[in-house]
Order: sequence, then C-alpha cells, then structure tokens
Amino acid sequence: MATNKKTGKWRKRTLAVRGGMMRSPFQETSEALYMTSGYAYESSEEAEARFKGEIGGYQYSRFGNPTVSMFEERMALLEGAPVGRATATGMAAVTAVFLSSLKTGDHIVAARAMFGSCLHVVEQILPRFGITYTLVDGADTAAWEKAMRPQTKLLFLETPSNPTLALVDIAAVAKIADKHGALLAVDNAFASPALQRPMEFGAHIVIHSSTKYIDGQGRALGGVILCDKKFLDDHLQVFLRNTGPAISPFNAWLHLKSLETLELRMKQHCENAGRVADFLGRQKKVTRVLYPFHPDHPQHNLAKAQMDGGGGVVAFEVAGGKASAFKLANALNIIDVSNNLGDAKSLLTHPETTTHSKVTQEERTALGITPGLLRISVGLEDAEDLCEDLEQALKVA
Ligand SMILES: *Cc1c(COP(=O)(O)O)cnc(C)c1O
Repeated sequence: MATNKKTGKWRKRTLAVRGGMMRSPFQETSEALYMTSGYAYESSEEAEARFKGEIGGYQYSRFGNPTVSMFEERMALLEGAPVGRATATGMAAVTAVFLSSLKTGDHIVAARAMFGSCLHVVEQILPRFGITYTLVDGADTAAWEKAMRPQTKLLFLETPSNPTLALVDIAAVAKIADKHGALLAVDNAFASPALQRPMEFGAHIVIHSSTKYIDGQGRALGGVILCDKKFLDDHLQVFLRNTGPAISPFNAWLHLKSLETLELRMKQHCENAGRVADFLGRQKKVTRVLYPFHPDHPQHNLAKAQMDGGGGVVAFEVAGGKASAFKLANALNIIDVSNNLGDAKSLLTHPETTTHSKVTQEERTALGITPGLLRISVGLEDAEDLCEDLEQALKVA
C-alpha cells in the first residue's frame, strides 16, 4: 500500500484533501472504503510476526483498519498532533481518555460549562471508580490553579462551550497543567481544527465529536482522540484494543471525505453565524446575543487570539422566558427544532428543556442557561433566508 511521505511541507488545505492517503495497488483517486472485520496472512509465520509486532499490518478492525487509519492520520495532521485514534462517538473518545489514563485516587479539574454527557461521566461515572473531581468556572484562571491537588492528573475543558459559547484561555490552563505535571485535554468539537488547534496553545490531548462539524451533514457518529506517542503507548492503545469503542470503517470514510471540505464549510458557517448574530443583536425582543466573534462577547479578545473564526453556533435570549422561546421556535419555517449541531441545516434548541434538562436548576443558573435562552447551530443556507425566518418568528414570540 502506497503511503504519502511528503506531508510535512504541506499547508492545511492540502492536508485536508490529501493528508494520510494510502492508495491500494488499484491506484484509486478517492480513498477506498475497507469494509472488513479481519485480515488474512500469507502464512502462519506472518500471522505470528504481526501479533508480535515484528512486522506492520492489520490484524482485526477493532485494533485498526486502513480507512480508519487514513481518517486518524488526516485528523492528526490537521490538529498538529503526533498521533490520532478514532472512536465510534465523541462520548466514546471522552470516556476512553478518562478511563484509560485515570485510576482510583486520581483527581480531575474540569470547566463547569461542558457537554451534558461529559458532565455525567465526570460527576456520576468516574466517582464510582474513586476518581474525584472539582468543577471550576473555566474563564477564571485563578480558579483552575486553586483547584489543583497533588492527585490531579487531568484537566478537561471545552471551548467554546455548549450552549453559552463561554471560552477558556487554553494557553493559561495548559501552563497550570504543566506546572503540576498534569495533562490538559480539550474538547474541540465546536471549533474544529479549521478554527482552533488547541495543541498550538499547549494542550496535550484534543478530543472531537466528529459527528458535528467534521461530518458536517448530520449523517454519522464518530469521535477522535489526538495525543502524543507516550499517551498512546502508556494508556490509550491497550485500552481501545481491548474495550472496543471502534468506529465503523464506513463512518470513518464519511468523515475522512468530509475533511476535504471542512475549511470551506467552516468559513461559510462563520459568515452565516456572524450575520445571524448581528441580526439578532438589532432586535428589541432579543435581550442577549452570545457569539465569540460578536464585539460584545465578554471574551471577544480571547476569541480573536485563539480562534480563526467564531464558529457556527449562536446563543440568544428572548424576552418573555420559556413561553416566548417556544413560540419563536414553533413559528420557524426553515430552521428546524433539533438538539444536534454542526449540520448543513440550521437547527435550534431550547437548552433548558432539552440538552441541559438533567442539570440542576442551580447549575443551569451558574452556566447562564435561562428560560429564554435559545441556541442556533447556523447552517449553510442563505443567511438572508435565515434572518427572515427569525424575523417572522420573533414577531410571534
Ligand atoms: C456532541 C458533543 C459531544 C459528544 O459527541 P457524540 O458524538 O454525540 O458522542 C461531546 N462534546 C461536545 C462539545 C459535543 O458537542
């Protein structure tokens, strides 16, 4: 199988299209989909040598698969990471990072504003194994430092975070992790490597739900872990091999091919989201607009420093609480009511009653999730049509 060896000199757009490509002897131009569970050997001696690791080659698709390898390699090149491993979902990636590297007695520090299921893993599952946690306001760098203990092994954050688009200063938190000999893992699902590469700011591990902007068309679930060779060898590889959160080669192929257009799509998501945020900012019934590249975002300068664009998600608050929010959502003609994000189709959700309904009222208040808050994942439709749709729905609200 022919592997590409020149990637070191390539720019990001070229890497997104060609990075990690392996051609079979048929010399196909488009990456092949290897829909196989197993692999045959020329001889028993060859099987023995592959299992001993004396020669390369695949053994079983729970351990590795050529299509999955191409996706992992392309993701690693785009994030500037030494290695990558793909998983069945974003949550499988998050859980694998935690459970492969932590043990009883260890402590983690995490930003409170995080994806609902990540919060569940941190608060409900890890403590069952004697792994304790401290949640902090991610924007408060001093709070991270204060939460550190001798047992702290891992720091975890999401930036921008769901659903209020709060940011965390990756470089500042990475410095704290380094000082205490801990690792920093960043969930980069909202920005994607097209807009933010956490390793450039010192993060040790990057996690993706490729279900979102990497797929970009709402078709397939997937996750990715990017890390260095040491984390892979010491923790991740053996864990993934034996616990089996493997991605289907089909889903890996979809996401691999999607990377070819990631930058183009993200550029358009950012432009559309910026236009929607500006439009919402001018509406009387809208009491708050949250978008990282909007001038009145409280961390606008940090957004400009660590992101190449504001992303596709905009949150806003309508006057009149839940009743108004529901009326607005129900009156939309183009934008769908859906809790997913990162789709070409614009999707709107009411976090209080959906994605964050299992979070306590106290935590919701701390996170700024009010009854009137709505989150739009701005898609790739014409921004004018989206603004007109919101305008007519706001009249009803
Ligand atoms: C969706 C999402 C996840 C979970 O990913 P799945 O692919 O749904 O398992 C984790 N983190 C963030 C920020 C997400 O948006």
